[in-house]
Amino acid sequence: MKMQKYHIDQNRRKFLKGFSFALGATAFGMPLLSLASDQAGITRNKSKRYDSTSSGVKKLGVALVGLGRYSTNQLAPALQETEKCYLSGIVTGTPSKAGLWQKKYGISEKNMYNYQTMDQIRDNPDIDIIYIVLPNGMHAEYTIKAAETGKHVICEKPMATSVKDCQQMIDACNRNHVKLSIGYRLHFEPHHQRVMELGQQELYGPVKKIEAADSFVFQRDPSSWRLDKELAGGGPLMDLGIYCVQGAIYTLGQEPIAVTANFDEVTRPDYFDEVEQSIKWQMEFPDGAVADCSSSYNDSASRLYGKAERGWWELQPSFGYGGIRGRTSDGPMNLPNVNQQARQMDAFATCILEDKQSRVPGEMGLRDVRILMAIYEAARTGNKVKIG
Ligand code: NAD
Repeated sequence: MKMQKYHIDQNRRKFLKGFSFALGATAFGMPLLSLASDQAGITRNKSKRYDSTSSGVKKLGVALVGLGRYSTNQLAPALQETEKCYLSGIVTGTPSKAGLWQKKYGISEKNMYNYQTMDQIRDNPDIDIIYIVLPNGMHAEYTIKAAETGKHVICEKPMATSVKDCQQMIDACNRNHVKLSIGYRLHFEPHHQRVMELGQQELYGPVKKIEAADSFVFQRDPSSWRLDKELAGGGPLMDLGIYCVQGAIYTLGQEPIAVTANFDEVTRPDYFDEVEQSIKWQMEFPDGAVADCSSSYNDSASRLYGKAERGWWELQPSFGYGGIRGRTSDGPMNLPNVNQQARQMDAFATCILEDKQSRVPGEMGLRDVRILMAIYEAARTGNKVKIG
């Protein structure tokens, strides 16, 4: 495992300057849990202590690890809307950020950590969940550190940059008897939940074809970790294509059995000398359905389409934080856009309080990384790669 490789502040080139607009997430799709069940009432649980809020509702404390773009613009604001958890702590290597966050969110001094002191969270009853929001290549090291504090863990997608790392993360959480969930926010989004129903319940008959595309034009600093093979694990496939893989799997409720793939031409070698610029792939499923997918850092796309025997559906845009639009061969879906991250984190808090497994567990993250690696192998070799 790439443990200890990326000490914070160690390497200026790798230090964060660029960001991305990483879009949606999703996963398994097998269990058709309803939004209502995600919002279900909390059974007050045993040994946990809860912090009171002004409303009198008890909430679990979440500490965000890594205060980059996603934590700043999505997760921290979402934690102001959550009903079952709240932002209680932070872990950052940047003292100036620590001060700003402390002021903005009223975080108590005793709940502020850096990467060297993070293991002391084990003694902090204000923190129940540690949320890893670091570059992909650091997820394994910090998820394992988090598990060893005895706190439950959410890790951002993609779970890690190798299957072996994913397995070690799962093992660490099991060893420490803590739950592990992946930041697959689209599992909690109404349009995507509708796609799961349409596909898995065969409401238009068996699904024959899926098309999925998730791309944006990368215009950030070329020194961004997202272009660094070690830190990102790969290019747009790891960052965005993972949503296409997930979308296809939860449309069908099946996992792919084989993939073919090819890298597209690199037209911006100044950016894409380590990771791919664009990739296309096709996944084959056990019942004969196929999914044609693409992902690029040099294009613009956000679409999930399914065609079944007696009808079709399409989400477009499909993978963003909001503004998702859906229609079927019968007309518009007319579903609400919601705060996906708030629902995702509340659902995990509910799992902890009710001692249930996350619907987006570490095993799902591992499954997806295995598929991503098979897609890369197919693109590299030009061969069809079997999965499973
Ligand atoms: P970012 O570049 O904005 O932030 C990364 C954070 O990691 C920064 O706070 C940075 O200081 C810190 N960091 C620590 N060590 C670093 C190092 N060696 N190099 C670079 N940064 C280092 O990235 P982000 O967009 O916030 O993404 C973070 C994670 O969240 C990624 O895994 C990404 O895939 C995931 N993400 C998920 C979604 C989603 O929709 N679920 C959206 C965006 C990002």
